Amino acid sequence: MPITSTLDILKDARERRYGVGAYNVLSLDQAAAIIRLSDSLEAPVLVTVPAVLEKYVNFSDLGAITRSVAQKCSIPVGLHLSHGKDIATMQRCIDAGFTSVMIDGSALPFDQNVSLTREAADLCHRHGVACEGELGAVGSATGEVKSTMTDPDEARRYVEQTNIDIFAVSIGNAHGFYKGIPKLDFERFNQIKTALFSKPDVFFTLHGGTGISPQDLKKLIEQGCPKICIYTEMCGAGKEKAFDYLARHPEYGGTTDVPELFKAILDGFLDVVKFDIDVFGSAQKAKCSVVPGININSSMIEDIVKSVINKISK
Ligand SMILES: [Zn+2]
Repeated sequence: MPITSTLDILKDARERRYGVGAYNVLSLDQAAAIIRLSDSLEAPVLVTVPAVLEKYVNFSDLGAITRSVAQKCSIPVGLHLSHGKDIATMQRCIDAGFTSVMIDGSALPFDQNVSLTREAADLCHRHGVACEGELGAVGSATGEVKSTMTDPDEARRYVEQTNIDIFAVSIGNAHGFYKGIPKLDFERFNQIKTALFSKPDVFFTLHGGTGISPQDLKKLIEQGCPKICIYTEMCGAGKEKAFDYLARHPEYGGTTDVPELFKAILDGFLDVVKFDIDVFGSAQKAKCSVVPGININSSMIEDIVKSVINKISK
């Protein structure tokens, strides 16, 4: 199907209480492989690229590949920019056909964050693209970049003043590998949700999904956070697979080994995606439109087929 609006993907996920993986990619083949894997499991998916990876991934090419592969699949696929820092980057993504973009002004003082985010949201909305913003700061798990928890009252003012569609919160989550066991502050999450009662359409997202326990991720999804960002875990698994391949092939250096090395890294990425689709409960949640305007999901199709077989066999 054609590339799908990020908000439509998140709306269905929030209504039916499953999570959508927002998987960072650092190459075009990873994007294609993640979409195909998700398609084989009938799981809606968001392909994501962080702004800092633009030197490795051409945004225009990523847009073209995502559209082309999505068209051959039957799942909703969205394309998202993560941690954009300036309006020019967001414009490049919009031009490339991204369905949502994030502006990250979380390191700025409150008023400057609001002003930058509002400008970004206005730009996005003029082009029919969703905008994500962040308040409080999701730092690094190692502590090098400090985290600041999202304040519920500031959250209300931030969302009302910026008009964003997706809200990245800092509730004990961080980027990278955690040193200890991360603990999400569910009480704070619910206080933020309550504070945003005047903006019920805003979607929550959790950055730094790597290392959060499956139980906590499921609980957060159940409580209304449908978008979960994953990256570090994929890199770790890809690196492990590559090192494992090299250890088993000490003669490495011949040209025939290079494709195997690439494949090992990709396999590591895909193992994580497959695991997370299971945790998020997104398998078999993709809708297919058999009659224009009427959406039914795979379990409904199964019910219909069963009832027809029943009738025939009687
Ligand atoms: Zn992030």
